[in-house]
Amino acid sequence: MTPRVTLKPGRQGSLRRRHPWVFRNAIERVEGECSPGGTVDVVDHEGTWLTRGAWSPESQIAIRAWTFDSQQMVESTFIAERVARALARRDPALARDGASSAGVCGRVLFSESDGLPGVIVDRYDRWLVCQFLSSGAEARRDEVVAALHAALPGCACYERSDADVRRKEGLDPRSGPIDGEEPPEQVEIDEEGCRYGVDLRQGHKTGFYLDQRVNRGIARELARGADVLNVFAYTGGFGVAALAGGASGLVQIDSSAPALAAAGENLRRNGFGDAAVEDIEGDAFKVLRSFRDSRRDFDLIVLDPPKFAESKMQVEKAARGYKDINLLGFKLLRPGGRLITFSCSGHMTPPLFQKIVADAALDAGRDAWIERRLDQAPDHPVALSFPEAGYLKGLVCRV
Ligand code: SAH
Repeated sequence: MTPRVTLKPGRQGSLRRRHPWVFRNAIERVEGECSPGGTVDVVDHEGTWLTRGAWSPESQIAIRAWTFDSQQMVESTFIAERVARALARRDPALARDGASSAGVCGRVLFSESDGLPGVIVDRYDRWLVCQFLSSGAEARRDEVVAALHAALPGCACYERSDADVRRKEGLDPRSGPIDGEEPPEQVEIDEEGCRYGVDLRQGHKTGFYLDQRVNRGIARELARGADVLNVFAYTGGFGVAALAGGASGLVQIDSSAPALAAAGENLRRNGFGDAAVEDIEGDAFKVLRSFRDSRRDFDLIVLDPPKFAESKMQVEKAARGYKDINLLGFKLLRPGGRLITFSCSGHMTPPLFQKIVADAALDAGRDAWIERRLDQAPDHPVALSFPEAGYLKGLVCRV
């Protein structure tokens, strides 16, 4: 018998709107034996069936919904259907088999957005980098991997379940090859004609910031003839794109020496080994202040900082970080120049972010206009019933 979870009176509204989470404090009682990641049925206080989901014994999110269809059983065919549905929604290139990969890259599965909470799968050439981040995802690991192999023959799976969120689920980090095959040190991908090396073992997240694909394309369009400053450069994604778009010069700042070394390799990979590029290893706040003091200026500045707010409580502190870095960014722009500025903190809402950027422009003494609002790439879709999936936002501002 599937365990049955009854909600407190009045706590069924969000499930009725197909929001896939049940918080522990919404639960009145549990009948039956719940196992970690096991399937449970959820009913409202009157006993009306609401959803079938995965039980998380430790997280504040006690249940993540698999399905809102009472007829649907959560078994391997269900998982395979969800994988197929996700692939059908994406660029057909992402569904190519392993033998005809040619550097294809993108997000194949995006957790709740694809009806598989806790499961993230990113494709790099023929490599599928998998994260299982919740108890339910963990319990379905083998079925997800089998479904991926069936849908994408010739691809190999590598696990990067080393994200911090696993701790909230009481799960230890795990990474390594899933089917015994070791990936090469660098997997080469092709993003709109730009080539990048990806370190599946050590790279951030699953190896690369695939969510910025479209925005790197926009930076490329705006870079023609521009003197570009790429702040928080990581492995030089925006830098390569800017040079591909005809930038006349490039300065890249990052606090990580290995990231800058990889950025240098990526420039060479694209034939920009001799371009006018300056790498600066250091704290972006300090480097930008020194640029301000020495009156250096640029035509195009990209600010793509790491997540400053990890939780709701940190939003205020994060706001100061975003304000400071954007203020410095505005100060370093030549007249007519552009700032491409991002926040990847889900807790920082687009209106709040816009306000912070507006305050930064004001304090920098610059008149600025929003030319474009930026978003995460379409292979990171946001279900209308689950707005929390939208985390990346950005603005192109012109002074
Ligand atoms: N724009 C990149 C992703 C940036 S990730 C891309 O498109 O691929 C954020 C980067 O900021 C990381 O590489 C990290 O090393 C760097 N970083 C974090 N804190 C920093 C700081 N205070 N100063 C400079 N770089 C920092």
